[in-house]
Amino acid sequence: MRAIIALGANIGNPKEQMDLAVAMLREATDFQAVSKYFSTKPISDIPQPDYLNAVCIVESDLPALDLLALLQGIEKTLGRERNEKWGPRTIDLDLIQYGTLLSSADELTLPHPRAHERRFVIEPWHSIDPDAILLTHGHISELLEQML
Ligand code: ATP
Ligand code: CA
Ligand code: CA
Repeated sequence: MRAIIALGANIGNPKEQMDLAVAMLREATDFQAVSKYFSTKPISDIPQPDYLNAVCIVESDLPALDLLALLQGIEKTLGRERNEKWGPRTIDLDLIQYGTLLSSADELTLPHPRAHERRFVIEPWHSIDPDAILLTHGHISELLEQML
């Protein structure tokens, strides 16, 4: 199944951490594409450095929770510490959409419930797959237009 994965990093060495996360995804999946790294302003109320954000598309046969565990393993390897919600982080890997799976579980909500309102997700995703559809909100090209 086709997985859309959003990456973000804003402390340590963001570019290096993004490169390493992409390299690990290449090892663990049938890797399809990665966007360029977009520099974005944090949306959080917590003062923190700007982010690098990107989106990857991979093919995987893993059950969804195993794919999430893979993403969390990569975060852990790269030194992610879970502190305050929406605080700065060495790396964040979110599963945006996985095939046509719909889930409302807290542990794994699919599609990601905030993806549609986040330019730092939609813009990189659109740059590598302009015709993509976010299952809950429709064509990402239209979502992006509303954000510009
Ligand atoms: P946001 O979800 O708003 O982007 P965040 O990425 O900072 O916030 P985290 O602290 O990284 O949030 O994750 C909190 C929890 O979200 C994780 O423990 C994970 O189980 C859960 N979660 C639910 N749905 C998803 C998803 N689609 N992708 C990644 N994690 C998810
Ligand atoms: Ca996130
Ligand atoms: Ca996350």
